[in-house]
Parts: sequence; C-alpha cells; structure tokens
Amino acid sequence: MSKNMIDVHLPDGAIREVPSGTTPLEIANSISPRLAAASIAARLTSVSAATSAVQNSVSDGQSHGESASEASMYAAEDSAAPRLVDLSTPLTSDTRLELVTEKDPDALKVLRHSSAHVLATAVLELFPETKLGHGPATDSGFFYDFYREKPFTPEDLAAIEAKMAEVVARDELFVREFEPREQALAEFTRDGDFMKTHFVTKFTAPGDQVSFYRNGKFIDFCRGPHVPSTGRVKAFKVTSLAGAYWLGDEKNPQLQRIYGTAFFSKKELDEHFARLEEAARRDHRVLGKQLDLFSIQDLAGAGLIFWHPKGAIIRKVMEDWMRDECLRRGYQLVYTPHVARINLWQTSGHEGFYAANMFTPMELDDALYRLKPMNCPFHILIYKNSPKSYRDLPARYAELGNVYRYERSGTMHGLLRVRGFTQDDAHIFCMPSQIESEVAACIDFAEEVLKTFGFQEFKVELSTWDPNDRAHYAGSDENWDLASRSLDNVLKAKGIQYKTIPGEAAFYGPKIDIKLVDVLGRLWQLSTVQFDFNLPARFELEYVGEDGERHQPVMVHRALFGSVERFFGVLIEHYAGAFPLWLAPVQIGLVPISEKHLAYAQKVEAELKAAGLRVETDARNEKMNAKIRDFANQKTPYILVFGDKEESSGSVSVRTRGKGDQGAMPLADFIAKAKELVATQSTEL
Ligand SMILES: [Zn+2]
Ligand SMILES: [Zn+2]
Repeated sequence: MSKNMIDVHLPDGAIREVPSGTTPLEIANSISPRLAAASIAARLTSVSAATSAVQNSVSDGQSHGESASEASMYAAEDSAAPRLVDLSTPLTSDTRLELVTEKDPDALKVLRHSSAHVLATAVLELFPETKLGHGPATDSGFFYDFYREKPFTPEDLAAIEAKMAEVVARDELFVREFEPREQALAEFTRDGDFMKTHFVTKFTAPGDQVSFYRNGKFIDFCRGPHVPSTGRVKAFKVTSLAGAYWLGDEKNPQLQRIYGTAFFSKKELDEHFARLEEAARRDHRVLGKQLDLFSIQDLAGAGLIFWHPKGAIIRKVMEDWMRDECLRRGYQLVYTPHVARINLWQTSGHEGFYAANMFTPMELDDALYRLKPMNCPFHILIYKNSPKSYRDLPARYAELGNVYRYERSGTMHGLLRVRGFTQDDAHIFCMPSQIESEVAACIDFAEEVLKTFGFQEFKVELSTWDPNDRAHYAGSDENWDLASRSLDNVLKAKGIQYKTIPGEAAFYGPKIDIKLVDVLGRLWQLSTVQFDFNLPARFELEYVGEDGERHQPVMVHRALFGSVERFFGVLIEHYAGAFPLWLAPVQIGLVPISEKHLAYAQKVEAELKAAGLRVETDARNEKMNAKIRDFANQKTPYILVFGDKEESSGSVSVRTRGKGDQGAMPLADFIAKAKELVATQSTEL
C-alpha cells in the first residue's frame, strides 16, 4: 500500500517530496555533496509523533557504564521514538529526517558499534574457529564477546589491531541484508554458533525476517545502524581483554571480551588516552596511599574506611566548616545512634522499600536490630519527642551521621563506593507554605559548598517518579505531583538549568540532584535535596497551626557533601592531592639547613602553631634538598627554609608549591599571608 511519493521533513522546516525508496544519502547528496560526505547515519522520527519524542535519545553517559543492553541492540523499536538508520535505508513513508554527522551526540555510538564489527572481522580472519557473541558500543568505546578455547594473548591483540587497520583500509561497505528467521537459525545451529542462535531466538519471533550486516566476507546478526563503510573507522585502538561467562553463568563456557575504543579523529583518540592517564595520576586510591590519607583494611572488610591522621585532619576541617555553616544558616545539630529496632524501619518503610540495601538484622535479647542506612527516622523521632507549633517551624536538624548500606562484595571502589559512610545529613520539617523557600535555601547552601571547595561548575537534575511503577513509590498521585511541581518551581525561579529524569526519585518523594564537574570535566553526584510527604504521614508528625488545629508538616531531606567519604575522594582527584592551604593536612614544612638551626626551627614552629597553622619540622640530619623534596612529594603548600642569614633577620625563605623559590620574607609577613589564605578558603597560594 505504500505511496509512490513521500514527504520528507527536514530540520529547517522544508518538506521534500521524493519517490518512495529514496535513501537519506540521496537526499543528503541533493542538498550538498559535502553534507553527504560528512553524514554517517540518519535519524528518522515519525511525522505524527515528532514534536514530543525528540528529547530523550541521549543519556548523559554517566551511569550506564559498560552495560549496553542486548535488548537495545536487537529488539524491535518503539515506532514513535526517533530511530537511527543507515544512510542507505530506503525511506518508504512520510518522515522527519535528520542527517547525523560526526558532531551529533549519537554519532560516536554508531562509529563504535561499526568498529566492533571491524574487530570481529579481524578476529575471524585471524582465528576462523572463533564463535561470535555480541559487540555493542559503550560509553567509552566498544567490546565484542568471543568464544575460543585458546585464550587470546597480548601478541594476538596486537595482530588483531593490525588486521583491523587492513579491514579499514579495504573500505568495505556495510550492507544490510535480510534472511528468514528459520533459515538463519538453521545456519547458525549448523555452524555451532551457539551465541548467535541464542540471540536470534531471543530477539526475533517466528516468521520474522532477520537483519544482518555484511562487510566483505564478514556477516553478523545485527539491527544496525552502521557507518557507510569500514573506511569511516579512522582512529581506533584495541585496549584490553577480559573473561566473562556466557550469560553470566559460571557453568557456561568462558568468553573472551575484547575491548577497544574509537573516535572520529586521531586527535580525539589521543586526547582520550591523555585523559585516562591524567585520571590515573589523580586516582584517589593511589594518592590516598602515597599521602597516607586513608586505607581500607582486609581484616576489617571491604568498603569500610580508615581515616589516617592526615586524612582525618582534612575531614575535621570539612566537618568544622559544615557544622559552622549549618549553625549560621539556622540549623540545629543533633547526634543519633547507629542501630535501631526493626520496628523503626517498619514504620519508616525502609524495611519494605529499602531492605535490599540494608545490612541484615542482628538478633539481640529484646528485638531484631538493624544498622541505619539513613538518618531520617532518627531525626523524626527527635521532632516527634515534643509537641511542635507553627512557631517551631521550620525545624532544621543536621547531623554528620554514619550510615551503613549493603553493597555487593566486589562492587566497592575506594572512597567512592563503600559500605559505611558519613552523610552530612539534615532534615527540615516545615509547613507546606515554607517548602519552596526551604528548598531554595538548600540549593543556595549546596552552591556555597561547591564554590568553597573549589568547584566552578555543576549540573542539576530533577528526579521524578514513574507513575506506572507504583510498587517502588509510596504516596498518592496528588502528593507526587505537588512535590515535583514545587521542586520544579524553585529551580525555575532560581533560573537554574536542569534535566528531568523520570523514575529516579527516592521511594518517598522527588529530588534535586546536583552533580559537580571536576577539573577533568567528570560529573560527580554529591548534593541532593529531596522532598518528602511520606515519612511525616508514616510517623504521624504534627504541629499546631496558627488556627489552633493540628496539621502535618512536610519534610526536606538534604545532604550537600552527600557522603563525606565520597566528597573527600572527589576532592583528592580534583586537586590531585595538592589541597588548597586551608585543607592541606600539613600546611607548612620547615627545613632547617643544619642542626645549628633547630632552635630557630622550634621558635618558627611555635609561632606558626600559635597562629593556628599546621606545621611539621624536618629535624632529621639530612641534606636540605632531600628534606625539601620529601615535603614537595607530600604536596605541602609551603616549605620554609632557613639558615644563619634568615635566623639573624627573623625571616624565612619561602618555597611555594607550583611556584618554586620565592626568596626570603619576614616570618610575621608570611604568617599574616598564610592566615589570610586559610580564612578565605583560598584555592591560590
Ligand atoms: Zn552490529
Ligand atoms: Zn533523610
């Protein structure tokens, strides 16, 4: 029934009437041959559904990691959503068409998936006995799963990479072909391609035509899309090899997963590896050891952090700042226990909605107890302990509270993913009329935290519920709508750009997440401000209003560091261990030139300490340069060197981190300068 002529709507609003069967490439060529050459795929959106569906095609690339799902590679597409197709796809109905060039956020995915086909082509040419699994694009590159009895060696990987370059040089077209499902299954079964048989069985239905892509002699079960030819894969690298059981089951054969990455240019590829190298240099686990900040102890268990003296001093500075700032902003400090009877968690709903994230119960003589995964119910008990009137609201309770959450063993990562951590947690109980101003104040506070600790840029997300997933959310539709709307209002009123993420809310209410951007441009989820109408209802919280009647308060949960441990990890990486003066564990290193100057060293040390500065003297009988080097290796902000000359004039020779020898300065002047930098939380020296 297809029409002879179809309408193709272009992004500039133009509509082209073309014969059915025309390809995006032909349309691109008719616009400009240069555009055609720059295009790598096309995005189609059905004309009727186009207006609303365009937004959600790209994720921010943070959370999905390597888990590109099989289903998204093979499953039938949602007809209303925009879909990427090959430039050679015949268009057979009215559609909106966007040509996808290298700059398009989806382009890299297409390139990388095509690179995975190039990888598989190379592997089969070198090792024809290999069986193919699947080969998706990931956020950082691509991989392909292979089954081969003999493990690949590093030499094999080098040979594979060289062979890939040949496949690219051959510039083979990626051609889509279809075959009846039954025929495809028969062929795969005959050839012992157990993984392909599995995927075709799982992701197609009897009677389907199965989609394949061919380049040269290589053919793969795949829905595409692909770049036009292998020659478009310009800058790639095979990066690593890992083992994985087929379908994650250790009874199954072990697969070999080869990872690689690809970019549109050599320059981008080089930048990618330079970034990785820089990230490795800043790895907080490495620096944590090198600077003696913290450890994780096998004997104690995974995901539990030991703060060493130098890390603990930084933590103290962070916590002091946070507590002072809370008091200044009208919070009250509280302390609460680490465990509570299971009844409390039943009342709060954690037992039902959050149990999988909690440590298992411990049985004592009077009841079952559970470690706290959140501080909220404890703050609620403090609120509930005495009658409240509208004059007491907002009541803002803050605590640096230790919480414990169950993370599967093997998933922990330094300070970033742990089983025990400290939240800078606060709960604000207020009247519904106060909610927007309280949330706004939390956002201001969060901005102050990020600015003070040296982060310039952040991104904001509003996480809302998924109304179709009632099982994971407590509360009524009206409440959820009201809550989401008030958070929305606050962000709009403050003129903050944000992205709405449906289905990411906490079980008790929607939330605003603030992700900071570190010096390498990486996003970190730290601050969160959450609205909650559920816990006040569950605990039957009340206040007496101006009208003399009893009302239910609403609640805001907020954590700004988020987790003190995680924030510390991010700080270490952001500063590469070279902390600003106010945070540095040892702010000043003293280097007396010889033993003769130890008495002067004691005097200098005493004066610096009296000024509230953290100082360490290297009194060892070592060469001056060795002492300077050791302080420099610890990234000490200032190193003061002194001998006869300095002693006689009451001065010190100042070496500033990153700037070198600054010459002599009267000690009093140095102290005044250092005190000023600490007082203003300066990130400069
Ligand atoms: Zn494919
Ligand atoms: Zn809470």
